[in-house]
Amino acid sequence: VTGGAPPAEGGFVLGVDVGGTKLFGVVLDQEGSVVAEARAGTPQVGSHRASNLASREPPGRAIVEAVGGLVLQLITHIEHPDARAPLGVGVPGMLDRDGVLRFSPHLPDAVGADLKSLLGEQLRGCAPVVENDANCAALAEHTFGAARGVQEALVVTLGTGIGGGLIEEGRVTLGAHGFAGEIGHMLIDTSGPPCPCGRNGCWETYASGGGLGRLAREAAYAGRLNEVVVLAGGDPEDVRGEHVTRAAQDGDVGAMGVMRKLGWWLALGLVNVTAVLDPELIVLGGGLAEAGECLLEPTRGCFGDLVEGGSSRPQVKIVPAALGERAGAIGAALMARTNPMGVK
Ligand SMILES: [Zn+2]
Repeated sequence: VTGGAPPAEGGFVLGVDVGGTKLFGVVLDQEGSVVAEARAGTPQVGSHRASNLASREPPGRAIVEAVGGLVLQLITHIEHPDARAPLGVGVPGMLDRDGVLRFSPHLPDAVGADLKSLLGEQLRGCAPVVENDANCAALAEHTFGAARGVQEALVVTLGTGIGGGLIEEGRVTLGAHGFAGEIGHMLIDTSGPPCPCGRNGCWETYASGGGLGRLAREAAYAGRLNEVVVLAGGDPEDVRGEHVTRAAQDGDVGAMGVMRKLGWWLALGLVNVTAVLDPELIVLGGGLAEAGECLLEPTRGCFGDLVEGGSSRPQVKIVPAALGERAGAIGAALMARTNPMGVK
C-alpha cells in the first residue's frame, strides 16, 4: 500500500465517468447527494492516430489530462477545496486490479495505460480508484437506484455498446482479474456483424444502439418503416435508432416491430446471463433504455419465452435504471468512498 490520502474533511468524494465522447463528473457529499457536476469532451486522439504515434505520446496521457482538468473544476465547488478528496474514475473497457487499462474498443488510445498511476501523478499524490464504467453504474444503482437493497442483480448499460455490472451477495463482482461483467462481448454468432472488439457477432452488435440502427435500416430497406424514413429525411440509409425509438413511442406499427425484434435480441443475452447468475432483478440503463416500455415490454415477454424453466421459476423482474446518465459518475465516487486509498 503506497500513497493514498485520508478521506477529505466534510466527506466529499469525486467521481468521473469517462465516456467515448464525453467526460462527466460529480461531487458527492457525505449523504451521497450530488452537490456539483461538470462535463467536458473526451479528447479524440484516435482521429490523429498517425501523428500520435509519431510523437510517441504515452497511451492515456490525453485522457488523464482531461480528467485532471475536470477534477480541478469539480473541487472549486467544494466549500473547503481539498484536492485530496477521494476520486473514483469509471472507464469503458477491461481494467485490471492494478488500474491498468488492458483492452478497450471504445478508448483505443488509452490501452496499456497505467491509469491509476498516471492520474496519481497528474493530481499530485491522490490515489484514485479506477474501475470499469459499467461496474460503477451497477454500484450506483445498487446503492441509490433501481437495485437498492437487492442482493443478486444484473445492471446492464445499453448505449453504443453494452456494459454489465454483476451484483452478487450485495457486492459488485470484479472477477479474478477485474474483467467480470463484460457481457456485451458474449459471442452470439461468430459469423455475425463485426464488433469493435475485433471479433464478430458479440451480443452488443445485436442488442445495443448500434444493433438497433442495423435492425432499423434493414426494416427501412424492406419497406416496413416508410413513415420513419420520411422522418429521417427520405433515405433508408439515414434511419437512426433514435428515429425508430421516437416513432415506436408514437405508436408507429413498423417501428414497434423493430423494437420487438430488438427486445428479442436483448432478452437472448439476458437469459444467458441469467443462466449463470440467477439474478432476482435486471436493471436496464443507458441511453437506449430511455426508449422505455416500447423496449421493456417486448424484452420481458421474450425473456419469459426464452429463459430456462420459464413457468417454473420465480419471475426475474426487468426494470428501468433510476439514475440516468449520472449513474457511472456517482458509482465511481462511491467506489472511492468505500476504498479511499484506491487499493483493490
Ligand atoms: Zn465484441
